Amino acid sequence: MSEWELVVGLEVHARLQTRTKAFCSCENRFGAEPNSLVCPVCLGLPGALPVLSSEVVRLAARMALATRCTVHERSIFSRKNYFYPDLPKGYQITQFDRPIATGGELEIFFEGDTKRIGVTRIHIEEDAGKLIHDPRIAGDDSSLVDLNRSGVPLIEIVSEPDMRSSAEAVAYLSRIRQILMYTAVCDGNMEEGSLRCDANISVHRPGEPFGTRAEIKNLNSFRFLAKAIEFEKTRQISILEGGGSIHQETRLFDVQSGETRSMRSKEEAHDYRYFPEPDLLPLEITGAFIDEVSRSLPSLPGHRVDRYLKEWHLDRETAETLVADRALADFFESAVRQSQSAPVQIANWVRNDILGVLNEKGASIFDLAITPDSLAALVDLIEAGTISGKIAKDVFAEMVEKGGDPERIIDERGLSQISDEDQIRDVASRIIADHPGQVEAYRGGKTALLGFFIGQVMKKTGGRANPELARSILESLLTGE
Ligand code: ADP
Ligand code: MG
Ligand code: ZN
Repeated sequence: MSEWELVVGLEVHARLQTRTKAFCSCENRFGAEPNSLVCPVCLGLPGALPVLSSEVVRLAARMALATRCTVHERSIFSRKNYFYPDLPKGYQITQFDRPIATGGELEIFFEGDTKRIGVTRIHIEEDAGKLIHDPRIAGDDSSLVDLNRSGVPLIEIVSEPDMRSSAEAVAYLSRIRQILMYTAVCDGNMEEGSLRCDANISVHRPGEPFGTRAEIKNLNSFRFLAKAIEFEKTRQISILEGGGSIHQETRLFDVQSGETRSMRSKEEAHDYRYFPEPDLLPLEITGAFIDEVSRSLPSLPGHRVDRYLKEWHLDRETAETLVADRALADFFESAVRQSQSAPVQIANWVRNDILGVLNEKGASIFDLAITPDSLAALVDLIEAGTISGKIAKDVFAEMVEKGGDPERIIDERGLSQISDEDQIRDVASRIIADHPGQVEAYRGGKTALLGFFIGQVMKKTGGRANPELARSILESLLTGE
């Protein structure tokens, strides 16, 4: 029998970066004093009426177009009814059978490969409040409710069940996050809950119909997503191999144990009694609005990768690394435009050296003093042979910390490369005279000692000798030509 195959579909919730909440003028801001950002509408007081913010529609449409969805001219808000202490109205306003957008797709990159993943739908909904159970805050026998989040706008992005491994699911979530951040639809902050995801997971034998899925709720990091999928895959396979069957259910991922456990089965599933929201008109969007949103989209990570591969001849791995962060990609592109050197040279510096510093410091490119034009100048100086690659690293370190023009730094510190033959020959002759033993060994056949002599020349010149020149001069002196 063939191996089990994993099937994953994700539902991603993204908090929209709007000024106000979805249906009232309360501020949409994380981390404020509890219950300080509330009004009769988001408190669910009787008689208060919702008014849809146009910013919400604009951002939802941006994400929809960025994932190649069709944005519908008419969509409907519905009530999803349930009781929970963080939901004062007793229902959530969401979109149900007529979402704002459907039928999109995007490309993911994982383990050296690319793949297309379908986006089933995107709909607009409001967030609920937050319950605080922490006894240090709420006391031992009570819970508190903070309604600042009540009515904050979200979009839910539902994928097709197109992913076949946890690595693919992580790559998909990561691409969604990149696009949300490029388009400024969502800040992508997973610690603050701006981005959370539910994973639908099943297993089957290839060629057979999909298996029954379990839905793991509220995963708020890439690591937890991967762990939950791996755990769930193993759990389902062992049940099926033991002759059991999988029941459709909602499960929770326990961060401490790394396991998932049942929350509710399909039989106990909520009946949300969806019906069209009577306080809101159907949402109608004009073609002109869609065109306007479409024109305002920035160049997206997928497009940039294509361009880097085709026009600048980078490898895909490097291109993907550079586009992961829009600010870094902008920095890279700006440096390429200002440099005479090949884009690959610039890419290597950004990917290895700049990213190295950023990771080490946990900083963003805006925190570094180095600018795109100064990096371009540095790479050009290496290409022109004015400084060696090794010295460039020292100059780079200073540029990162203090900024400044590489040529000035090189001048001030006397770092430019020595390409004067006589000067190098002088140094080389002295070294040869100082090391008769090594010279004899070299002449006796141990030609690998050439490296030793080159090293000595570099040391004497503070790394400034042109290494190729040093090599050829040493070779000719040592062989006595
Ligand atoms: P619901 O609204 O009940 O969650 P949906 O039909 O909207 O159901 O599906 C939700 C998610 O489940 C989608 O992301 C979809 O890709 C995924 N999905 C559907 N069937 C399966 C399956 N057999 N295995 C894994 N994921 C699935
Ligand atoms: Mg679901
Ligand atoms: Zn409000």
